[in-house]
Amino acid sequence: MIVAGLISTPGVANADQFRNGQWIYGSIEREFVRFLNPDNSSRIGEPNTGELLAGSDQRGRWQAFGFDTNRIVWSPDVDQNRGRQVGGFILQKWLTYGNRPPSTQQPVVSSDERGRLGYPTTAEEQAIGGRYNNFQGGAITYQNGALSAYATWGDIRNQWAQSGYESGQYGFPSSNELRCAQQPGSNGTFGAAGQLFKNGTKYITSGVATSFGGNPSNRYEHAVDTNTMQLPMRGTTKYQTNLDSGVNQWNSVTAGKIAINQGAPANVSAMEVRDVNIPGGYVGQFNGFTRTLSFNDAYMASLSTQNRNHTAAHELGHALGLKHSCETQLMTPINSAVQIPNSLDRIVFNEIWAGF
Ligand SMILES: [Zn+2]
Repeated sequence: MIVAGLISTPGVANADQFRNGQWIYGSIEREFVRFLNPDNSSRIGEPNTGELLAGSDQRGRWQAFGFDTNRIVWSPDVDQNRGRQVGGFILQKWLTYGNRPPSTQQPVVSSDERGRLGYPTTAEEQAIGGRYNNFQGGAITYQNGALSAYATWGDIRNQWAQSGYESGQYGFPSSNELRCAQQPGSNGTFGAAGQLFKNGTKYITSGVATSFGGNPSNRYEHAVDTNTMQLPMRGTTKYQTNLDSGVNQWNSVTAGKIAINQGAPANVSAMEVRDVNIPGGYVGQFNGFTRTLSFNDAYMASLSTQNRNHTAAHELGHALGLKHSCETQLMTPINSAVQIPNSLDRIVFNEIWAGF
């Protein structure tokens, strides 16, 4: 039996410790002692569980500390001799990849290392302006002051690494990896991955998607009059309130660049707004060749206000030159209830019209 209060020395194989009614053993203990202060208090809190099995093969071990604000996780595949601490926002994010939401954590068998990130290969380390843990399948990075940490992996992580990680041009990740449209011809499908990064307006993509904006010099890819920098519209629709919602949402993005004018005079070339009834057809459509914005009554009539607003704002986005981009964005290729131009939508708009 070891007396609680034993001060252990980091890097030395220690005897097991009994703290807060729990034993801390072996490889987990060798990580734990790295977080002890000279007065023997713990910077990751006291153990709240015993040592538990980890991994689908149950070859790993883990233990919760500080009311599960920290865990030490050990795998013989990472380091026979020492576990790795994961805590705080990084731990919260890691748990989301383990097929088990944090709110339903039960300290029985951890499934978190079974997610695509696998086991931690480092403890939480200093980044410039933040923190990170590396994992077998990628990393989770936290920017000081942010409300969430974000994971990076694969091709996007490779690109980010080449740019110098958080101190490079992209800065910290600011979204999860998103499923994105593969351009062109991406109607209703995701075929690429993308991720938003913090430095102003940066995002990077994996796969073949490189741009989500049309070419403003191709008059069939938008309905903007590039001489007057107006988007003139006329015509009537049952879904006027939804169209108004979309115009209002876009106005805050287009202000100072493109004026959206409903009720254009008859002598002005304008996009026509109309309703159609085509069972089996689209919900909404912008046609750049005929400069028509159509709402399909066959579907619109049964949609929620949110989905109608999405459809109107989404089609207006096409009329402003945006192509399909990523989930969580207004220009997602999959129908959704997103009603406002989001971060990437704004980035793409500004990219398209930067030279105007
Ligand atoms: Zn669309």
